[in-house]
Amino acid sequence: MIEENVKKLLEEVGENPFGEKVTLVAAVKTQTVEDINRAIAAGITDIGDNHVQEFRDKYDGITGDPRRHFIGHLQTNKVKYLIGRTYLYQSVDRMELAEELSKRSERAGVTSDCLIQINIGNEETKGGFEYDDGPEAYKKISALPALKVKGLMAMLPFTDDEGVLRPLAKKMRKLYDELREIDGNIQHLSMGMSGDWRLCVECGSNMVRLGTSIFGPRRYN
Ligand SMILES: *Cc1c(COP(=O)(O)O)cnc(C)c1O
Repeated sequence: MIEENVKKLLEEVGENPFGEKVTLVAAVKTQTVEDINRAIAAGITDIGDNHVQEFRDKYDGITGDPRRHFIGHLQTNKVKYLIGRTYLYQSVDRMELAEELSKRSERAGVTSDCLIQINIGNEETKGGFEYDDGPEAYKKISALPALKVKGLMAMLPFTDDEGVLRPLAKKMRKLYDELREIDGNIQHLSMGMSGDWRLCVECGSNMVRLGTSIFGPRRYN
């Protein structure tokens, strides 16, 4: 089942209307190492974790050397466990975290890549910078010595109402294009989960994070 889902999704994601290849990141929270490795064997090249503990517990068991993304809320005191092992910190949602990532990266002699998380729906339950603060956040974060901004990440509100979702997704693409004009390193717009990724890609996302549609329902125990 996982294998079929991966093959089908890899074919389906394709390109967005801007002619950009869409990267499929498997959101692996609560999944077993065995299932994650099945997905990788079927073609998954990028995996995203939400929890530092899971990231650490599963790290050595994962085969195929996928790119490791961190996509969840990250406490500053746990940053040290991820440094040097993470391809992309997608969920930089506050200055304090950006500063800690840069400090720890510098200390380890590496440069880390990140996305700035934008709370596009202005939801209390979600992290991220306010949309209007995006350019200022970009300016401050890109000035840090060991952290490079590679783009933006967002989670749309949980609704099926395309009249709500589409304008928000388009606003994200607009901000992404504005940043891309001033910074050649900007290359990822990470937006889209199992329920809304098609709409997000149509609006210009080039990175989707899928869990349920690859693995089925999550295994909480
Ligand atoms: C869990 C999660 C996803 C994937 O969610 P699905 O609806 O299962 O596809 C994507 N992004 C983040 C940040 C997540 O926590």
